[in-house]
Amino acid sequence: MGKLDGRVVLVTGAARGQGEQEARLFREEGAEVVVGDVLDEQGKALAEEIGALYIHLDVSQESDWRRAAQAVVEEYGRVDGLVNNAGILRFNSLLDTPLDEFMQIVNVNQVGCFLGIRTVAPVLSDGGTIVNTASYTGVTGMAGVGAYAASKHAILGLTRVAALELAPRGIRVNAMCPGAVDTAMSNPAVLDPSADGEEASRGLDRFYRKVVPLGRIGRPEEVAALALFLTSADSSYITGQPFVIDGGWLAGVSVI
Ligand code: NAD
Repeated sequence: MGKLDGRVVLVTGAARGQGEQEARLFREEGAEVVVGDVLDEQGKALAEEIGALYIHLDVSQESDWRRAAQAVVEEYGRVDGLVNNAGILRFNSLLDTPLDEFMQIVNVNQVGCFLGIRTVAPVLSDGGTIVNTASYTGVTGMAGVGAYAASKHAILGLTRVAALELAPRGIRVNAMCPGAVDTAMSNPAVLDPSADGEEASRGLDRFYRKVVPLGRIGRPEEVAALALFLTSADSSYITGQPFVIDGGWLAGVSVI
């Protein structure tokens, strides 16, 4: 028995990173999985490997969302879960952030999440789930990522309002707030075939040992496990909440 037997779940930004691990784990747990991304080649290869459906889905585009929701319902006759995972990060001080860059981040991270909820919720089964990927920077500040942090704070607001508005249908909406996770976003070396990805991961562990109580960067599989919890019946009485998964980074600072 899988935790998601009989359920159909759409994961955005699932061609790689956390979304890929969520797609893999959800398949292992019995779900039909729809992989949405703009990385068509990688997304298709993953979908073929795990027996999922790939859909080109730029989350910032309303028309892509309409097509995706229609395609999922046509293929499986239903949709029970959505993971709004797609996201982008840019580094800049607030005072140096051009409006175009700010809006690019807002359009993918925040508008993408809004469009996902607005498009999928009407066709989502009663009792379904939505999991929004916010961030550690959705609950605290971090210098150099102002636009990103603003968009991730906004995702928590969307999560809470959606939870209130969709509760009468038994639809639960929660958010994940990961700290640093070892994917291309935090570790661009994994995208460079000439780089040693494992050495880069060890370097990140050494770096995060200084600030993260558990002494290492997080793994995408660990975030996928949280996404499974929030998508399955294990979290049946939980809605509208942010879940920090950060190795204790937000717990405070140590002076000893
Ligand atoms: P990643 O860069 O490996 O994955 C992001 C995925 O989103 C990629 O597959 C990318 O193609 C896809 N994507 C980007 N723009 C898109 C768009 N417009 N439409 C559809 N897909 C799009 O990084 P990740 O760590 O797996 O990121 C997943 C989520 O986790 C993101 O929302 C990110 O902001 C969040 N997050 C990451 C970290 C971290 O340290 N890696 C920490 C906290 C939160």
